[in-house]
Order: sequence, then structure tokens, then C-alpha cells
Amino acid sequence: MENKDYIVIVQCDLVMQRCSGYFCEKAFHDRTGGFGVYRADKAYRTLYLTCGGCCGRALHRKLANLTTKLLAQEKVAKDRIVVQMATCITKDNYHGPQCPHLDYLKTLIGKLGLTYREDTHISGKAQERRNTGVYQG
Ligand code: SF4
Ligand code: SF4
Repeated sequence: MENKDYIVIVQCDLVMQRCSGYFCEKAFHDRTGGFGVYRADKAYRTLYLTCGGCCGRALHRKLANLTTKLLAQEKVAKDRIVVQMATCITKDNYHGPQCPHLDYLKTLIGKLGLTYREDTHISGKAQERRNTGVYQG
């Protein structure tokens, strides 16, 4: 992770119809949840986007566009980029179950040769519900 300095946060397109993404942003700011592995003293670039809607295929086009632009404009290569999937995609949560297309999304990201990571904001209440089996995984 030491060479990574550009984080692409991918959020569920359906959930983003009613979510501002505030808790994802705060989790990154505070380096909590899925962002706990990132250094607090490093100035990362961040880009927030959605999967584009089910089945998530647009994510491939969005990320391909981004990697092409980053390389051409700023010489930022793929090995400096990490794709961080929001918790509303990776886990059962208040908004609904885990994304049914998660494996497909992983495949798309893998085809582009980008590093994949899971989770953003981890809600204390939701985690308690996962731990007690109210939420499944
Ligand atoms: S993880 Fe939470 S805050 Fe982030 S986009 Fe999903 S629902 Fe919104
Ligand atoms: S593919 Fe998954 S992440 Fe994207 S809108 Fe559908 S349920 Fe949400």
C-alpha cells in the first residue's frame, strides 16, 4: 500500500440515490473502517464514483477512462491507484444486502489490473447486527 496515492471510492448507484456519501468521506478523513490502512500523514487524492447501476458493467468503462486520463495528464500509473469498494456494496447493511454482482465487479476491476480493497465506513450499529446475525455478512 505504500506506493498507493490515488484512491477511487466506488459506491452503490442505487444507494446513492438517497445517500450523500458523507459517512464514506468522514471515514476517509478519520482513517477509520476500510480506510484504517492509509497513512494519516499522507496527502492522498480521492475520487468518488458509483458503479453506474446494476449490473455494474459501467464501472469498467469509468475506471478505464480514469486510468487513461491519469496516465496521460499526470503520469499516474495503475500501480499507484487503489479501488476501494464502499460498505454498502461489500456488506449487508441498512440499505440492503451485499451487492449481488460483487464478484462481477471484482472481475471488472481485476481485468484492468487495479488493486481492489473492501469497505469504507463501518457503522457500529450495523456491525453489531452483523455480529448477532441480524445482517448476513
Ligand atoms: S457506505 Fe454508507 S455513506 Fe458510503 S455510499 Fe454507502 S451508504 Fe453511503
Ligand atoms: S451492481 Fe451492485 S453496487 Fe451497483 S447498483 Fe447494483 S447492487 Fe448497487
